[in-house]
Parts: sequence; structure tokens; C-alpha cells
Amino acid sequence: MLEQNLQKYFNFADFRPGQREIVEAITSGKDTVALMPTGGGKSLCYQLPAIIFPGLTVVVSPLIALMKDQVDALSARGIAATFINSSINSAEVGRRVADIKSGRTKILYIAPERLGAPGFQKFFSELKVDFLAVDEAHCVSQWGHDFRPDYLNIKNHIKNLKRRPIVAAFTATATPEVKDDIITRLELREPAVFVRGFDRPNLKFLVQCDLKPKERYAEILRIVKSLDGSGVVYALTRKETEIIAGYLQENGVKTAAYHAGMEAARREKIQNDFMENNFQVIVATIAFGMGVDKSDVRYVIHSGMPGSLEGYYQEAGRAGRDGEKAYCVLLHSKKDTNTHKFFIRANHNDMLGQGKSWQEASRISDIKYDRLDKIMRYATERKCRRKMILEYFSDPEVKNHSGNCRGCDVCLGWKRNTEQHRSGRSDTGKGFITETVKETVKLYQDGYDVFRIAKMRGLGVSTVMGHLIEWYEAGGELAIEDLVSSLEQSQILEAIAKVGMERLSPIKSVLLEEISYEKIKLVAAKIRRGR
Ligand code: ADP
Repeated sequence: MLEQNLQKYFNFADFRPGQREIVEAITSGKDTVALMPTGGGKSLCYQLPAIIFPGLTVVVSPLIALMKDQVDALSARGIAATFINSSINSAEVGRRVADIKSGRTKILYIAPERLGAPGFQKFFSELKVDFLAVDEAHCVSQWGHDFRPDYLNIKNHIKNLKRRPIVAAFTATATPEVKDDIITRLELREPAVFVRGFDRPNLKFLVQCDLKPKERYAEILRIVKSLDGSGVVYALTRKETEIIAGYLQENGVKTAAYHAGMEAARREKIQNDFMENNFQVIVATIAFGMGVDKSDVRYVIHSGMPGSLEGYYQEAGRAGRDGEKAYCVLLHSKKDTNTHKFFIRANHNDMLGQGKSWQEASRISDIKYDRLDKIMRYATERKCRRKMILEYFSDPEVKNHSGNCRGCDVCLGWKRNTEQHRSGRSDTGKGFITETVKETVKLYQDGYDVFRIAKMRGLGVSTVMGHLIEWYEAGGELAIEDLVSSLEQSQILEAIAKVGMERLSPIKSVLLEEISYEKIKLVAAKIRRGR
């Protein structure tokens, strides 16, 4: 029955590691804590129970941008979902509230601060909620990297409900302190705790140690040029994002920098352009990522070592969410460690300034030094990187691990500057159709349009179009009339007759602006296929 729903509503053939057990625990009525890595598939673990429970599910999430995406994706799958947050006006809130009251809504996404808003509290407390999922649950803990005071009140909002729902908490932050805080501060009742899926087999882990800053930039350029698809470069400072982006740009790579010092509108534009593949590489501080669900990121490069392995894995895990091969590269320099030590000392002084006792400040600093030590080991020891990650997160899978993952620089015997980064395409040769392309095609054949598929799969529209073109060029069946009207086809044919079809830009230049490269590619492929 679970499999049937998985297939019916989500179009997935199998569960990912951990998902089934988590769904089973929740649907059997147990409070649950699920610790899974970024990209591990947490959303499904609350969306599937939400479909199975007869009544309402509430998902508390701080990620306003992601709420809309998730609600759109669920709606596209025929599931009555909605969200209430600061992005909608009060009339619209009223309409949504009415839908919830009438029982039409199955899943409500809500920001934590809204739960406490005057006027809303009463409405909320009168709801019959079957299941309440807390996403990004580490926000309840000062130990998480993103503490939000509103999270502390979630337990009170639950208490105010007439009937206590099943409560489940989800996060990618898996240290014992955070897990304990989640259980106590959300007042979970004897929860089932799952630490699962930290192994992401499609990710390859590479580390280069002791690089000088200049070498680091050259290495980033080399990697970016040798891989297909889009990527993220994380830098430690705002200034460095600009420097690296400039350097890549000078060397012919389409790039944008991104950091919290930029205006919100500009950040949003860059984020959208990245989703739509208008440029190849985003060079960002850690301000980028939370709530960005681009599933076909092919590599994440860290220019500089983060302060903890969980921070690293959270960011690196943004690669390859679609399950296709992707690379996580850590470029480490000796000075990184000193930078982090400097931050820890400064933070220690800040804590004293805020009135914390010396013991308390030292206890917190010690935990930070310990985390730094562990990521230092990850960066510098020649041991299977994947196994070290599984050990760090206490994933039970580690006991089945041989110590040779065949997917990290150590296990593959790669040495600096001799690695052969190869993309999935060149590995397999011409005519290879990846699983991600096949999935798009399947959805298209099932009757979803390009925009819906983009939403459902967390991809840009142009990527989805790219998949369909790839499929068609490789000989697959596709009714191109649905994508390019017959009038447009004849205009493109005329243009090709004039300027030939060796290159696309001359064709584009003699056509109307609205006729996209994608449409031209489809018609050119049709001609080639007819030959
Ligand atoms: P997380 O919230 O853990 O970072 P998501 O829930 O966004 O991860 O899932 C990451 C990606 O994995 C999404 O594109 C989602 O559609 C996909 N996914 C989740 N579960 C499965 C599954 N069982 N089979 C295939 N793809 C899945």
C-alpha cells in the first residue's frame, strides 16, 4: 500500500534508504525524529503520511521560498496543499483559512511565527490536526546553525490543540546535542529516532589539502571547465565570492556571486537565473542554499574548509539531489583552520560579554573546537571519506561499510592534479540517456506539461526542455508539434534554408525574438532525423 501511494502520487519506484521506516513509524502513530542528509528525501517522509492520514497535516517550515515550490509540486500531483506565510495578503489568507476549515485542505505549510500571530492562534487551536511535521527542526536548538526563537513556541501551539497530533521532526543536523534539544524542546513523546541515509552513493568526495589561495582558484577553474552542468562554489567570505566569480568570468565561465550583503531583489534574481541555467556557476557564501531546491547541481566545490563536518555535508549535499552522479570537492588550505580558531575565540569573548559564565562559554567553545578537529581530520587523513562521514553522523550503515567506497579520492587512488573528473556523459559515450532525462520524458508522456514537470522535479524550465530535446535528438518519440507550432516550424525551416544549420545563433538572429533556441534545436533535430 505504501509502495502504491509512492508510485501513484510521487511517481517514484522505490523508497530511498530510511524513508520507508520513517513513514511506517509515523503512520503507526509514533512521534518521530528523522535525521537525514540534505537531498536524502525528507519531504516525502511527511508528505506520504499526510496523504494517508484522513485529516489535516500541518508542516511547520521556516523556508518561505520552498513552501511555494512544495505546494505547487503537491498540487501538480493532485494533492490539496496550501501555505500561509508573509508572502500572501490578508484576503488570500482568509480564503485559505476557509478552505482549511471546510476540510478541503489536506496539507498546510506554515511559518512558525504565523502560529503565534494574534488572531491566528485561536483559529489554529480549533483545528483537528492528525499530524504535525516540523521541518528544519534544528532551528529549535542553539546548537543548530540557524536558531529561531519562534521554534521554542511550537510545543505550546501543539498543546493548545484540542487533540494532540502525531508529531515528527526532520533535520539534516545530526549531532547528539541538537537531537536532544529537538526531543525536549518540541516535547516529543517517546519518539522513534532514525538516523538514516547519510550515504549518498551518487556523490563522489574529493579533498585537496594544503593548497595556496592562488592554487585554489586555478583548481576551481580546472574543475569547473572539466565538468558539465551547473555547480556551486562556496567561499568563506563575501569578498572572496566576488574575487572567485570575477576570476571564473575572466576565464570564460558564466558565473554570478551571491552573498547576504546583496539586496534581496538582486539575490532573488541570481537565484532564479541559476535555477533556469542562465549561468553555470554560482559562487556564494553559506547564505546561499537554504530553501534552494535545484536538483541537478553537478558539483559543489568548497574554496576553504567549513568549521564543521555537518556544515560541510549540508552544503556539499546540495549536489546531485536528482540521484545522478555529482562531485563534492573540498579545497583546503592551512590557513582555514586558523581562521576558524580565530572565530571561535572571538565568539568566546562575545559570550562572556553577553553575560555567560566562563565555564559555559568554554563548554560551548570546546564543542566547536571538537567539531573543527573532526573536519580537519576529514580533510587531512587518507581514509575513506564516505566512511568518515557515516561515522561522524553515527549512521548505522557504517557497520556494513568495507572502508572502500570506490567513490572518494582516497578509495579511487586519485592524487592532486591527476584526477580524471569525468561527467556521466563522457563516461558512457554518445547516445547515453541519463535517468534524469528518462524521468522527465516519462512525466511528459504521462501528460504533464513542461512547467509542471519543472515544478515537480525542482528543475528549471530550460533544463526540462533540454531533457526533451536530448531525448528527441537521440531518436526518442516526441510530438514536437506540441512544443513548436506548425507556423513556428515553417519559420525556422525558412531561416535554416537561408543561413544553414551548422550553428544556432545565425538562425536565431533572423527569427522573431519569441522563437527560442530550444524550438530551433527541436526543428534542427527533426531535419537530422529525417535524413
Ligand atoms: P531533503 O529535504 O532531504 O533535502 P528532498 O525531500 O528535497 O530532500 O528530496 C530531494 C530530491 O529527492 C527531490 O528531488 C525528491 O523529489 C527526490 N526524492 C525523494 N524521495 C525519492 C525517492 N524515493 N525516489 C526518487 N527520488 C526521490
